[in-house]
Amino acid sequence: MTSTNSSNNNSNYDNNHHDDDDNNDVIHFVLFPLMVHGHTIPMVDIAKLLTQTAPSIRATIMTTPQNAARLRHSLASHPRIHLTLLKTSQACQNIDQLPSMNHSIPFLSSLANEIQPQALALCKALSPKPTCIISDVGLPWTLHIASHIGVPWVSFNGSSCFGNVAMSKIFGSGICESVESDGEYFVVPELEHRIEVCKAQLPNGYMNDGMIKFIKMMGEAERKSYGMVMNSFEELEGSYVSEMKKIKGYKVWCIGPVSLCNKHYEDKAQRGKELRGEKDSSNNDEVMIWLDSQDPNSVLYVCLGSLHNLKTPQLIELGLGLEASKKAFIWVVRASNKLEKWIEEEGFEERMKGRGVIIRDWAPQLLILSHPAIGGFLTHCGWNSILEGVAAGLPMLTWPLFSDQFLNEKLVADALNIGVKVGAKYPAMKMKEEGEEEEEEEDWIVEVRKEDVKEGIERVMGEGEEAEERRKRAREVGVMANKALEDGCSSHLNIALFIHDILKPNNIST
Ligand code: UDP
Repeated sequence: MTSTNSSNNNSNYDNNHHDDDDNNDVIHFVLFPLMVHGHTIPMVDIAKLLTQTAPSIRATIMTTPQNAARLRHSLASHPRIHLTLLKTSQACQNIDQLPSMNHSIPFLSSLANEIQPQALALCKALSPKPTCIISDVGLPWTLHIASHIGVPWVSFNGSSCFGNVAMSKIFGSGICESVESDGEYFVVPELEHRIEVCKAQLPNGYMNDGMIKFIKMMGEAERKSYGMVMNSFEELEGSYVSEMKKIKGYKVWCIGPVSLCNKHYEDKAQRGKELRGEKDSSNNDEVMIWLDSQDPNSVLYVCLGSLHNLKTPQLIELGLGLEASKKAFIWVVRASNKLEKWIEEEGFEERMKGRGVIIRDWAPQLLILSHPAIGGFLTHCGWNSILEGVAAGLPMLTWPLFSDQFLNEKLVADALNIGVKVGAKYPAMKMKEEGEEEEEEEDWIVEVRKEDVKEGIERVMGEGEEAEERRKRAREVGVMANKALEDGCSSHLNIALFIHDILKPNNIST
């Protein structure tokens, strides 16, 4: 194997590799992750899962140099996963580094113009020849690469079957036209469970026009895909998986929870950490030692995802609610001068010493969730976090912020009955139209009060039959999640089926 990147002595880097074992038995997946943590992390897990399936399986992850550099260590022990660099002049290469979500579509469009020709040339030159492209739906241009080189294009959208089906029923029925305001609840038609939602909570509730146009473009590409891999498992989403297959009209393979491919301590500890770059200052060992000293099921883990979306006054209410709950907690906070100022001026961290741990910027979420001391998860309902909480068998306190998170909350709290809603009704951020100004933090309404947080924690972690039942159900779903990837079980079989399907002749995307 020849590496063209001499400045980097990591064997995963490989922009033009020519393997000795370039023969027909090798199955070579080329993966294009979207440049944002919540999408890159599961895509890397998918590469790990696939290569763990058989020694003849290779994966190449194509991404920009900064993103690749941040995956390097976690892939070092996975020699059959390669990183191929898509060079770019962009200083900022990840949505997480943008000043706000308003910049995400211009960022993705200009990046696409720059890297598409290179990606095509690199794919053509890859050896072994690619067998299939798995691309985030947020990079719809990769469809053209797949059709050009004559391989199936499989999409990954990182959300739930439930969310996809609910959206299809909502828009297919035209029900939104019959409601008077964004905040008026209506029942989603034709679902197995009774699910109430309002317009403001739908994934497009926070979007500007540019984002809505982009989503339409993604949808057009998605319709041409050979199929979609889902980070989910059939026992979790039951009828919604079969319904999604019907609605989409292409193949859907549920192969999750993909995070379970991280079996070893180091894999769990490193996962996603490097993506934060220099900003990461967390000390895993200290936190894990503290957790070791806590009683089983006594600690609440609080993390609102990889993007910072809650305004400071709302975060302060959350902190006060944690204090009022009298429960032990780990609270992950993102860099925010205003919140830090409050923590310091209030002496909050000092006050909570021994009972509450604050992790700044990035927590080893998989390690923490699987620790026996953790008894509940306050989550923003990002789909990865939901599945990770499910796999850990934990009851959840749900605090959706935006996008598909409100629908994920309904699945957890109203369909699976393993979660309690904290009471957030409106998105915590709204993308601006051109020329529109950001509002001041102080103008933002504080929706969830510290009393709501305290009460929610009590319902999730406190005593009583209802809480016990919920915890029991969460444990049962957790067992199913772990079983799904065992030999001969649903996700394991779906991976085999997926590989079988993409190897069939005449499966090319056009
Ligand atoms: N994550 C983590 N540590 C953190 C924050 C997030 O490991 O401090 C991981 C988490 O385990 C999940 C991903 O980042 O895999 C976040 O994805 P999710 O879909 O939950 O939310 P998003 O950040 O995309 O809103």
